[in-house]
Amino acid sequence: MTTTQLEIVEEPHLSVQWTRIKGRLQTEVGEVEYRTWLRQMTLAGLDGDEITVTLPTRFLRDWVSSRYGDRLRTMWQAENAGIRRVDIRVGGANTAPMPLTGTVVPPRELVAEPVQETLREPVVLARSAPTAASVDDRVEPRSADLAAPLDPRFTFEGFVVGKPNEFAYACARRVAERPSSPGFNPLFLYGGVGLGKTHLMHAIAWELTNRTSQPVSVAYMSAEKFMYRFIAAIRSQSTMEFKENLRSVDVLMIDDLQFLIGKDNTQEEFFHTFNYLVEQGKQIVVSADKSPSDLNGLEHRLRTRLGCGMVADLHSTTYELRISILEAKAARAGVAVPVKVLEFLAHKITSNVRELEGALNRLVAHANLFGRPVTLEATHEVLHDILKAHDRRVTIEEIQKKVAEHYGIRLTDMSSARRARAVARPRQVAMYLAKQLTSRSLPEIGRKFGNRDHTTVMHAVSRVTELMERDGTFAEDVELLRGLLES
Ligand code: ADP
Ligand code: MG
Repeated sequence: MTTTQLEIVEEPHLSVQWTRIKGRLQTEVGEVEYRTWLRQMTLAGLDGDEITVTLPTRFLRDWVSSRYGDRLRTMWQAENAGIRRVDIRVGGANTAPMPLTGTVVPPRELVAEPVQETLREPVVLARSAPTAASVDDRVEPRSADLAAPLDPRFTFEGFVVGKPNEFAYACARRVAERPSSPGFNPLFLYGGVGLGKTHLMHAIAWELTNRTSQPVSVAYMSAEKFMYRFIAAIRSQSTMEFKENLRSVDVLMIDDLQFLIGKDNTQEEFFHTFNYLVEQGKQIVVSADKSPSDLNGLEHRLRTRLGCGMVADLHSTTYELRISILEAKAARAGVAVPVKVLEFLAHKITSNVRELEGALNRLVAHANLFGRPVTLEATHEVLHDILKAHDRRVTIEEIQKKVAEHYGIRLTDMSSARRARAVARPRQVAMYLAKQLTSRSLPEIGRKFGNRDHTTVMHAVSRVTELMERDGTFAEDVELLRGLLES
């Protein structure tokens, strides 16, 4: 342990300040950009008046230094007068052994004074038109407003539709066209992280606030912001104003409702606002990570009301959808990305669209920065940290076990010589998933399945791919298994 690390241990404020700086950066640059470039920054130590921050690769280090170096320095200086310089270096996680995690400090504006100010801000959103934004566009600095601004890229036009999200998309479109239609109120969108819930909500809001005939007032905010607004209102004894403000909108959208689990008072307030608005014929749109009935911890009566309108879920992406999304985003960014690279990314980064987009953004930035075409080789290099994280810890054994359970066959049948369809098909599915989810080669996979030949694995992969194209139910089944294994 070096002295610099000790200083941090003795200086708990440093980690709090760092958490605050990162939080602020995230708000400034937006979620996608933050995840692409800044999330992996680690605080390595303080030496005199110089603070050291590390990033896992040279490319990231260069990028962050050139784009955010000044900003980081200003932010540090504002937080801590003793700091004058910020050194950004390449370093792994093990060069940063400090206890920095675990202290999640909410952005300062949410815990400190400006309560009065925020309350006077209208809930209704600005009505500026969406503009095409490139990777480099900065979102204008966000003040302490509690009604979140809309992301200009999150429009219906920018949303790529495929099997896993077509229903949710159609419902969102419908609500944007005719809010408060019977059967569509509330609209409840749910699905895992990064699958497009926020995107669709913003798209509805853009559409409604921009339309020329009968423009309507829309309030969009996360459940978290809803809670902070509510608490601030209680503190400053202006709950009436808060209620009136909320109840004056035509469309209320609350994102990530699961945040209200365990926050009983806020839930209660939301429930009343909800009922009031619905009774007045106003539209409600809500998103969450689970369906209303699975949101354990939300009051029963609220869950019931939430499930009364239209409930639409966003499924995990399929390979085909990931390819389409990558194609669309690459075209938008104006960078030619070879099909091989798109296929590689769609195979490797299966968790969610946000990660996929982050990887592509980084490739595009790299290509622009060095004026070099995107190649598979460059992809490996530029994304090596992301790819490593996605070389999941899923093992072939886990895949075999899960698939056997799912189809109700014995685990030993994964390596047995039995060729009955009831056994052979699940075995093929397991081989297919092993190819998709691990970095094992075909011969290695073959060996794990009772010493089968690599051509058998190859055959299994193409057979399953073909069946998935032909048979929707089968495809869903396989995607479900993939989702289970990845979670
Ligand atoms: P969620 O709210 O479900 O966690 P987001 O709506 O924030 O996810 O989506 C994460 C990122 O992925 C956003 O940048 C969004 O634009 C993008 N994204 C998700 N689904 C799609 C899609 N079908 N087409 C285009 N972009 C998408
Ligand atoms: Mg979201």
